[in-house]
Amino acid sequence: MTKIKIITDKKFSDLTTFRVGGPIKYYVEVGNDEEIKAAFQFAKENKIKIFILGGGSDILVSDEPFDGLVLKYIGTEILVDGEMVTAEAGAVWDDVVKKAVDENLQGIECLSGIPGSAGAAPVQNIGAYGQEIKDTFEKLEAYDIALGKKVTFTNIDCNFSYRESIFKNKEYWQKYLITKIFLKLKKNGAPSVKYESLKKDLDDNDQEYSLKTVRESVLKIRAGKFENPNVIGNAGSFFKNPIIDKEKALTLMENFPEISCRLQDDGRYKCFAGWMIESAGWKGKTYKTAGVSPRHALILINPTGTAKAQDVHDLSEKIIEDVYKKFGVKLDKEVQFINFNGKF
Ligand code: NAP
Repeated sequence: MTKIKIITDKKFSDLTTFRVGGPIKYYVEVGNDEEIKAAFQFAKENKIKIFILGGGSDILVSDEPFDGLVLKYIGTEILVDGEMVTAEAGAVWDDVVKKAVDENLQGIECLSGIPGSAGAAPVQNIGAYGQEIKDTFEKLEAYDIALGKKVTFTNIDCNFSYRESIFKNKEYWQKYLITKIFLKLKKNGAPSVKYESLKKDLDDNDQEYSLKTVRESVLKIRAGKFENPNVIGNAGSFFKNPIIDKEKALTLMENFPEISCRLQDDGRYKCFAGWMIESAGWKGKTYKTAGVSPRHALILINPTGTAKAQDVHDLSEKIIEDVYKKFGVKLDKEVQFINFNGKF
């Protein structure tokens, strides 16, 4: 049987960009089929749960001890074959974007700089500046953890929607270990410049629109506006922009003329959660050991590196409550809560 290295002194705070989270009983990194099977076997023999960790950039883990096995796939190979880009799940997502742009392949340039791993990218259908991974996603390979069998999910199987996929549904969440993703990009395609903020940055700097300039511009805007997880613990956008019915959106726009709501293809409106949180007074505020970024109200932060998971949790609930009181809109979390009350 293939040997795997079981580590017993890891904490989620070492492994997540929020730098929050309790001790882990067993942690193991796997890089090939044999190691994956050996890790599954170890969990089975010890009758313990498996938690699959990606880049740790989109989760908030409780401070409670985790009694099971945390499994991380660390293969990082990125291959380009014509217009097909294949990335192992452990590859850094931005390395995939860089490779695609270097190869003059269009389709993910706006997704530059999003933290996390390639394997985690389809789970929440990452998106930015009007591009989503679902637009270029062909398929993925994964292991069904219960059966120990390799399976494939096509684009349709993943049931993508705004920051959502089938993998976030209860029946699929943590049931699959994603090992490889396949993207179909477009050789020499024109870059996507849909959002005003991106267009303005390119125009203000007299940049022609190319995959390279769009990538550079996105990276620059992100560095100026979002919190860098290497500097301050955070998990990117904590809340999703709510998508609401036309009637409610029109009333909101009448009552709050400054609110930014965009008409969607399905006739509903997507309203900017960051603006609502800011006008509910939360931008830059702290609550116990947790805080809201002073740069971008959608981002919750670990201000001094000592945040307690429960405080971040309670802060997010307070924000949801205040936004609901002021706007009658219930915000949904984009970040997944792990090991709160034993649930994951
Ligand atoms: P922004 O450009 O200041 O725009 C503010 C909001 O309005 C955004 O949330 C965006 O919605 C929406 N918006 C702007 N132009 C739009 C258009 N032409 N059509 C439809 N909606 C439009 O946004 P920002 O806060 O600086 O963020 C920039 C981009 O990075 C956003 O797309 C954001 O979602 C993305 N981002 C993604 C992640 C992630 O995937 N984890 C993390 C951080 C930021 P959307 O947010 O729905 O695009």
